[in-house]
Amino acid sequence: MAETTLTIGLAGNPNCGKTTMFNALTGAHQHVGNWPGVTVEKKSGKIIQGDLTLDVVDLPGTYSLTAYSEEEKAARNFLTDDNPHVVINVLNADCLERNLYLAIQIMELGVPIVLALNMMDEVRKAGKDIDVPLLTRLMGCPAVETVARQGKGKRELLDEAIRVATTRNGSVEPLRISYGPDLDPVLAEMEGIITEAKLLAEKGPARWVGIKYLEGDSSVIRHGKEQNETVSNRLEAMVAKVAQHLKATLSASPESIIADYRYGYLAGIAKQVVRYPSINAERIRLSDRIDRVLTHQFAGPIVMGLIIYLLYTITFALGKFPMDGLEAVFDWLGDAVKNTMADGLLRSLIVDGAIAGVGGVMGFVPLIMIMFFLLSALEDSGYVARMAYMLDRVFRIFGLHGTSVLPFIISGGIAGGCAVPGVMATRTLRSPKEKLATLLVAPFMTCGAKVPVFLMLAAAFFPGAEARVMTAVTLAAWTAAMLVAKLLRSTVVKGESTPFVMELPPYRMPTLRGLCIHTWERSWQYMRKAGTVILGISILLWAAMTFPSLPADQAKPFEDRIAAIEAQMPPKVDESTAPAQTEEKDKAETPESPQEQAVKAIEAEKAEAELLNSYAGRAGVAMQSVMAPAGFNWRVNISLLGGFAAKEVIVSTLGTAYSLGKIEAEESAPLSEKIAKDDSFSMAAAIALIAFVILYAPCFVTIVAMSREVGWKWAAFAMGFNTALAYVVAVIVFQVSRLLV
Ligand code: GDP
Ligand code: MG
Repeated sequence: MAETTLTIGLAGNPNCGKTTMFNALTGAHQHVGNWPGVTVEKKSGKIIQGDLTLDVVDLPGTYSLTAYSEEEKAARNFLTDDNPHVVINVLNADCLERNLYLAIQIMELGVPIVLALNMMDEVRKAGKDIDVPLLTRLMGCPAVETVARQGKGKRELLDEAIRVATTRNGSVEPLRISYGPDLDPVLAEMEGIITEAKLLAEKGPARWVGIKYLEGDSSVIRHGKEQNETVSNRLEAMVAKVAQHLKATLSASPESIIADYRYGYLAGIAKQVVRYPSINAERIRLSDRIDRVLTHQFAGPIVMGLIIYLLYTITFALGKFPMDGLEAVFDWLGDAVKNTMADGLLRSLIVDGAIAGVGGVMGFVPLIMIMFFLLSALEDSGYVARMAYMLDRVFRIFGLHGTSVLPFIISGGIAGGCAVPGVMATRTLRSPKEKLATLLVAPFMTCGAKVPVFLMLAAAFFPGAEARVMTAVTLAAWTAAMLVAKLLRSTVVKGESTPFVMELPPYRMPTLRGLCIHTWERSWQYMRKAGTVILGISILLWAAMTFPSLPADQAKPFEDRIAAIEAQMPPKVDESTAPAQTEEKDKAETPESPQEQAVKAIEAEKAEAELLNSYAGRAGVAMQSVMAPAGFNWRVNISLLGGFAAKEVIVSTLGTAYSLGKIEAEESAPLSEKIAKDDSFSMAAAIALIAFVILYAPCFVTIVAMSREVGWKWAAFAMGFNTALAYVVAVIVFQVSRLLV
């Protein structure tokens, strides 16, 4: 034979680069027509090579050969009716698994095939590689790497196609893959029947015809019926029987089982042939070795506890210095304003409302920054995912999910988070019940705004043991979250748990840049809140604590007593309008005279009377009888009211309340010192207050976030239930610790 014509089909998924490859192979020698019977465009081109004429046909882009669409029909009819010598299956090698799905179907038809691993440039750019010899061996057909856009590999591809076409001459042993214990026996039986009846033998192999019957391929079944109705009916009855069985046992159709097994088969191949860079493989191996220790049944939790404790210790050891510095800066600022402005409402507003309020919160910024920095390091390294993994076993007991740990940690599970993003993070929980339970208890965690409250109380009553107090608070918060979650999950939020699947990403060294960005983002969020919401609330509260002012007849006795003492004192050198403030400046050099001390004591009494007379004071006093069993004085009551708006307000309100109501000898003394000296504030009350703050209503922003996730009803529930719970627990804690300490 002088001249041979080989028909080569070009198949592939849409967008795999098939047309690009077609153009690269055939150049300008193209012919455009139509596929018979359908409106799909058919492109073909000729390549002359010596005495070989290659007739290349560009098949429509399809994902499968099920003949649902016109494209699939055209592609399948070409394969079953036109008997190509070889099919070049162009694959987007970057998604090898999905693209090979079509190859399996072509191979089941017994059509000779060559795989063009296209887009290899993308694969390499992604840092991956494909073991082509191994793929060839596993798939049982040749594979060639190509970059169609650059014409790379087209020569080798064509050579391989010609080799296969001339040696195989249009047919190969069809691929046989297992479709599992349910379908395999049926398929084998069907194959026997089809072979015996030679049903559709001209279209494809008997097993393929059987698969098409199982898939419910209407066109194959119609042709089968035309050829041999009895056999076709028998096959259909077999399919109906197995379909019913599958529906009953797996609630799946034969078609979906077939797809599952094909993908399973391909996943196995892809896993072996797609290589990630060697560093990556090494990293994964190293990660596995690290995980053997860090997620070990016994060592894991111990390491986790140590890491949390270290996080605190480092934070507080390092945070102390800038914290003291910032505190001094705000004190200096307050004094500066005091010394330049005349006594009056505006000065009080600026110094006691704005500077004291915002300063009290800003003083904790360095601490929070260090905390976030370390926390980000833990997150970025991949360790937080391990914590989630380890905690799943525990979480399950309480009706939660391993993933619940993330909302908890974001809310402040290792202190210094925020319940607002924490509540939003519950979106990752798929089961609505677990999501709701997680969301309701996540605000118990020690958010960044609660940290200052606990720290201030720790400094007042447990000086030097701040780190230990914070660790205890964290453990208490977790315990409360777990127990309440269990309570909720067995009462108002009943329902099944979902199985846990969580990926453990390989460990990676956090980058300094990444850590700084994370730290800054989180700290900035906190500061912005401090600068805006808290400033506004500080001023509101200042007003609530200042107005209405003390009636003149009640203020007069104080003023008279001060005037009486001042009359006996030697005249002042500089100012006479604001004696208290000049003393304040001088106090380091000259000790106070008995008269000066007397004046201060009277002023403190007066200020206290003023606060008691104010709206806030009245509210605090009104609550006194209710809150006394928990050990809270009226100043604490005021600050807790403010805490409904934002937890930061607790500290700033206490600061304002104490500096207005009780002017101590040293104005610059931290709030802790004042509280420690307050007779109406005991250690037992401090412990009860810590318990109350852990549990009571989330701040208003969190309530809004909650309502967006699960509706107003549950948000309102969180507010009421948490506060009631907090009250009961605080009363118990106060009464018990009063007996013990
Ligand atoms: P078809 O739908 O299979 O016919 O795909 P096309 O030939 O139209 O190609 C789809 C897109 O992939 C086009 O933008 C091509 O330029 C691009 N493309 C084709 N082959 C390659 C390749 O090997 N590497 C890269 N990076 N892009 C390619
Ligand atoms: Mg195309």
